[in-house]
Amino acid sequence: MSVDWVQELLREDLRGLSAYGAPQLDVPVRLNTNENSYPLPDEVVRAVSRAITGEIADLNRYPDRDAVKLRADLAAYCGHGLSAEQLWAANGSNEVQQQLFQAFAGPGRTALGFGPAYSMHPLLAVGTATTWVDGRRDADFGLTVEHAVAQVRAHRPALTLLCSPNNPTGTALDFKVIEAVLAETTGLVVVDEAYAEFRRPGTPSALELLDRHPRLVVSRTMSKAFAFAGARVGYLAAHPAVIEAVQLVRLPYHLSALTQAAARAALAHADVLLGTVEAIKAQRDRIVAELRAGGWTVADSDANFVLFGRFADQQAAWQTLLDHGVLVRDVGLPGWLRVTAGTEQETTAFLNAMKELRP
Ligand code: PMP
Repeated sequence: MSVDWVQELLREDLRGLSAYGAPQLDVPVRLNTNENSYPLPDEVVRAVSRAITGEIADLNRYPDRDAVKLRADLAAYCGHGLSAEQLWAANGSNEVQQQLFQAFAGPGRTALGFGPAYSMHPLLAVGTATTWVDGRRDADFGLTVEHAVAQVRAHRPALTLLCSPNNPTGTALDFKVIEAVLAETTGLVVVDEAYAEFRRPGTPSALELLDRHPRLVVSRTMSKAFAFAGARVGYLAAHPAVIEAVQLVRLPYHLSALTQAAARAALAHADVLLGTVEAIKAQRDRIVAELRAGGWTVADSDANFVLFGRFADQQAAWQTLLDHGVLVRDVGLPGWLRVTAGTEQETTAFLNAMKELRP
């Protein structure tokens, strides 16, 4: 409900906008938000419960404001010789990235992304009154060095967002592009690696570049491969001075004691939690192969989802799939839909529903 007086009170640049969010519908097969379809294994449920229970009596106290133990655990998980001073955590990588916008972008500054990419990036720009520039990707959803560098040169962004593997296309970026952007810009470069754990063999993580590039930030999350979306834990790896700068804008005690404890317990069981990644990748590859065999156009994917089309009317196709109990995502890209790779049964339900549609 939008009432006139609220619109009048609202910041001019927010008037008439609608809130971000995929439909949360109660249907049998939900493949629209790139979650991990597998519930937490019992062993991890018990460990997380114990960790949370251990915090409850102390909830009269604020949590560790700097989440030092969690950051040390995240550093150990990331490897590459990273230490707690190079890690930062918040309530999802959305919050991590919002903090980067607050600290390094904002009024009078420009942030540059390469669409179609994660739709929250421009919204974080709106929320922080940052000028957003949508430098487009190439027709095959890739991004060439020349194109990326030309956009950076033209717009001189304070913040450049590179999403790899990219949502919604699944495309991973070549290191050449990341390094060329870093060489061209004097600003910060954020590589959003929310889907890093699903990369195909031979696709490296930008974490490898951190020791050579102090203005590089790698954003990660426990929402996808870790099957921990409900806990809201995201993190970034960067130069320690970048982490210090982010602390200027974070709310004190932003990450609850329960969240910190739950995340640490989950990280202690990383091997078990990440045990579903290979099964999900297999379903992703199955979706790509079967849709292509059925005559559909499908983008290569290094993530846990697949972009497919082309539909004369993707909204009608979305509805047909929903009518068959399968919820996928209309990302607003004409002709295309995005589906998350779920369990084998969910994938089968999706592929069966797709037989109701013709390429
Ligand atoms: N980055 C990308 C590319 C995403 O797709 C998402 C979630 N859809 C996020 C960041 C944010 O995830 P979270 O806040 O759960 O970490």
